[in-house]
Amino acid sequence: MFESLLDIDTYAAESALVERIAALERLKAAAAAGQARLAAALDAARRSAEAAAGVPAARRGRGVATEVALARRDSPARGGRHLGFAKALVHEMPHTLAALESGALSEWRATLVVRESACLDVEDRARLDAELCSDPAALDGVGDAALEAAAKAIAYRLDPHAVVDRAAKAASERTVTIRPAPDTMTYLTALLPVAQGVSVFAALKREADVCFDGRSRGQVMADTLVERVTGRPADQAVPVTVNVVISDQALFGAESASAAIVGYGSVPSAVAQNLVTDAVADGRSRAALRRLYARPGSGALVAMDSRSRLFPKGLADFIELRDQRCRMPYCDAPVRHRDHAQPHRRGGPTSALNGLGTCEACNYAKEAAGWKVATNVSESGRHTAEFITSTGARYQSVAPPAPGTPPPPGDVEQLSVA
Ligand SMILES: [Zn+2]
Repeated sequence: MFESLLDIDTYAAESALVERIAALERLKAAAAAGQARLAAALDAARRSAEAAAGVPAARRGRGVATEVALARRDSPARGGRHLGFAKALVHEMPHTLAALESGALSEWRATLVVRESACLDVEDRARLDAELCSDPAALDGVGDAALEAAAKAIAYRLDPHAVVDRAAKAASERTVTIRPAPDTMTYLTALLPVAQGVSVFAALKREADVCFDGRSRGQVMADTLVERVTGRPADQAVPVTVNVVISDQALFGAESASAAIVGYGSVPSAVAQNLVTDAVADGRSRAALRRLYARPGSGALVAMDSRSRLFPKGLADFIELRDQRCRMPYCDAPVRHRDHAQPHRRGGPTSALNGLGTCEACNYAKEAAGWKVATNVSESGRHTAEFITSTGARYQSVAPPAPGTPPPPGDVEQLSVA
């Protein structure tokens, strides 16, 4: 079907090309509606089977969101959102689902409607659904922001208290996150209640208003942020441990390669060299080196062993350095847990081979009934983990190579579904 839709020669006329683009967009929306129906059906089937087996209500449906995420090649965090979206559409919002199915709404626009109605009870949600989406023609030409505003306005009219309560609850989700930006920069993001966010920004701006030393306003604000948070001038080392993984040749400048900052990702080795040099030069800092052994060619880090139940610190550090990020496929979260792939209570040893770095959510997801994780070492020496979900679907995860030792061509992640 896709080949005929994409057969460009057949649709040489420009108007026909535009029509095919529109047709494929409708197909994407219809596919999203189909995925929503299937995800809701999977959740319902799992819950009724578990109810029949006597599983307590609070524990039913565990792991389903992660299974949806894996099937969609998406992160487990997004799997939770996909499943919530699917259940809301299928069970509570038939008009929004129909608009998605017909292509009148894209998946993202349907998500906006579901999100803005999430604070309402079932009856009000049904009213919003009918008012906003029962006439697909009314959705023509409405932009994302306008659609979101219309959904917000209806929600507020139907139940102002629910909207206010949601704002209060949102404050409990305040947090600070970090993600890589291009050119060895990073985005440090704070999600704050509006009053706090505005006052932090105003304080930084005020600093820039009274500073005339040749730095730009943005530079003054960024430097002030670093100084106030770390308590040190922005151009000096920060007094917390920064773990850098770098090959010995790269550390001494003999090789241009990448290094990795744990919790951040890869950086050019020159940046890592500067970090180490600055730490050595600064009397208040302490640079420590620890040797890790990587296999030549594949870059696989070599194993260590221990018999105790809790991962010993050295082994936990090793697993975190080896795995770098959560090992659940498509999950990019930082490593929080160093856990047993095969649980200790079922005889799983405390070893680098049976150890797995995961985020908190994925560690619990893989403990759901029917899940299994089998670890191994690939031919090239890299650590592999096969995640088998309760439906028998299989997903492979391969530990990344150590920085500075690129894997040979062809050594890539593979995926198969049983
Ligand atoms: Zn994870």
